[in-house]
Amino acid sequence: MEQSRKLFIGGNWKSNGDLEFVKSHTAFLNSVEFDANKVEVAVSPIFIHLPAVLSSIDSRYIVSSQNVSMFDNGAYTGEISAKQLKDLGVNWTLIGHSERRQYFGENEEVISQKLKIALDNGMNVIACIGEKLSERDAGHTIQVVSNQVKTLVGSISDWNKVVIAYEPVWAIGTGVTATKEQAQEVHAEIRKLLASTVSEEVAKQVRIIYGGSVTEKNANELITQTDIDGFLVGGASLKSGFKTIIESYKAKNN
Ligand code: PGA
Repeated sequence: MEQSRKLFIGGNWKSNGDLEFVKSHTAFLNSVEFDANKVEVAVSPIFIHLPAVLSSIDSRYIVSSQNVSMFDNGAYTGEISAKQLKDLGVNWTLIGHSERRQYFGENEEVISQKLKIALDNGMNVIACIGEKLSERDAGHTIQVVSNQVKTLVGSISDWNKVVIAYEPVWAIGTGVTATKEQAQEVHAEIRKLLASTVSEEVAKQVRIIYGGSVTEKNANELITQTDIDGFLVGGASLKSGFKTIIESYKAKNN
């Protein structure tokens, strides 16, 4: 079946927390037991908390930034480059999260540039895509997601370093989760598109994770879907229920 894809569960902490939270939450995460052969677990704090997380979380966890500069080092005030992240020991970053697209004007061109520079610097990326409610209501979900996948295809040189996060914008932070059928349908389409535009091999290997109001209540059901290889979790990753979400890997039928 799909055994070759190791599950991937990420916690996107967004712009939350303080050093006290970092201390208590990493201590909590260190106490969570999981089989690292079956699931990779990542946490994504704000830039300035990265050193504190790196020094307090145990090595089973991947530590990821939430963003990366589209430029190399240089005169780009306020930006943090892939090189600087690597220098700190951060080898993963989110790219193209819908909040970056919505509030910070990140378009396909910017996202493409960020993907290229992150990968050129040897980083791994969690590339986020997903349609807005108006686009779903208009019946354009597959078209919108396909266009976003095309940006990925045009920018990605090494697919071993990529996890795709399908996050319908209408499900993020709203408490409205995609049904397992809705999520599975889009995940399968993404895989089909990768098979036809990249290769069958890449389509089979790449992890496609779901995000948008994942909680300890719906994780076990969503994870059973064939093409759902894990989750990107926002709000629920800040709480103790994240343990149950991590443990959902046990419900995967492989
Ligand atoms: P949410 O966020 O789980 O709070 O809906 C998901 C995300 O933005 O990655």
